Amino acid sequence: MNSKMKTLTYSKNIFLPVTNLCRNRCGYCSFRKEPKDAHLLSRSKALHLLEQGALCGCSEALFTMGESPGSVLGFESILANAGVADLMDYLVELCELALEFGLLPHSNAGLLGEEDLRRLQPYNASMGLMLETTARLDAHAQSPGKRPDLRLQYMALAGRLRIPFTTGIMVGIGESQQDRIDALRKIAHLHSVFGHIQEVIIQPLDPKSGTALENAPRPEIMDIRRTVEAAREILPPDVAIQVPPNLVDPRPMLAAGATDLGGISPVTVDGINPDRPWPDEVELHHRLSDYNLRERLPVYPRFIAMGWHGHETRWLVDFLADEDGLRAKKYIF
Ligand code: SF4
Repeated sequence: MNSKMKTLTYSKNIFLPVTNLCRNRCGYCSFRKEPKDAHLLSRSKALHLLEQGALCGCSEALFTMGESPGSVLGFESILANAGVADLMDYLVELCELALEFGLLPHSNAGLLGEEDLRRLQPYNASMGLMLETTARLDAHAQSPGKRPDLRLQYMALAGRLRIPFTTGIMVGIGESQQDRIDALRKIAHLHSVFGHIQEVIIQPLDPKSGTALENAPRPEIMDIRRTVEAAREILPPDVAIQVPPNLVDPRPMLAAGATDLGGISPVTVDGINPDRPWPDEVELHHRLSDYNLRERLPVYPRFIAMGWHGHETRWLVDFLADEDGLRAKKYIF
C-alpha cells in the first residue's frame, strides 16, 4: 500500500429487521407496515441469517425496527403469536445469538427510554439513531417520534451512557441546505459535549412508490456533495462521514470529504432501500484501488481503545480487531 493513500472504511453486515411495525408514518418510508402485514423476525429466520452472515465473513449484525411498536394497536398479538413476552428481552436474546455466531450487534431501535437503552448497551458494539433533520417537515407530519428535540435528547442520553453512536441526516426530504447545516451543527455540538459520535451518514432520499414522496426528485449529486463538504467542515476529524455506495457514486463524495461507505452485505438487501443493491465487496476494492479500503468493525477504533463498546462484545472485538482497531485482514474474503 502507498502510504499516501487515503484510508476509507466499510463494514460487512447483515440486516435483521426485528419488526416493521412503527408508530410513525414518514413520507418516504416503505419499511413500515400496517399491523395486519407487519412481522416480528422469527428466531429461525434470525438463526438462518446469522449463520449466512458468519459463513460469508460478516462482522456486524444490524438490528433495526420501527419506532415504539408497542404503542401500535395489534402489536401485542404479533408478539403473542411469536411466543415473545417482551420486545426488549427478545432483542437482547437476538443480540446474544449474534455474538454466538461471531457477529457484533449494532442496534437502531428508534427512540428508547433510558432503561431499555441500558439493557441493550452491554450487548451492542455501538448503537444508532438517524437525526435526519432538525427542521419540521411535511414528511414528518405524521411521525411523533421525528421531533428533533426528542431525537437530540436521545442522542445526548446515549452520550451520557458512553455508547459509541451512529447518526445521520437525510438529503431530499424537503429540507433546505441551511437545515442540513443546522442539523450537522447540532450533532457536532453533542459530540463536543459527550465525544460519542463515531460516524454521520449523509443519506440521500431514494423515492419509493406508494409513499408521499414517491414523486420527489432524487437529490442532485451536487447537493449531496455540498452536504458532504459542509459535514466535513462542521464535524471534527474524528467523526467519520459516511455515504451509502448503493445510493450515490462514492467517488465525488470521497473527494468532498467522505471517509466511510457504511455497511454492505453479501447476504441481505438494504432493508430500507431494497431496490438498490449493494456493490460487491471485491468489485469495490477494484473500483477504489487508489484508496486504502479497509474493513472495519461496527465500533470505530478509538472507542475500542477507550473500551466504550458493550462489555459482552469485548471478547469478540478483541478477536476480530487488528492492532489498528480495524478488522484483522486475515478474516477478509
Ligand atoms: S420511523 Fe423509520 S420505520 Fe418508522 S415510518 Fe419513519 S422511516 Fe419508517
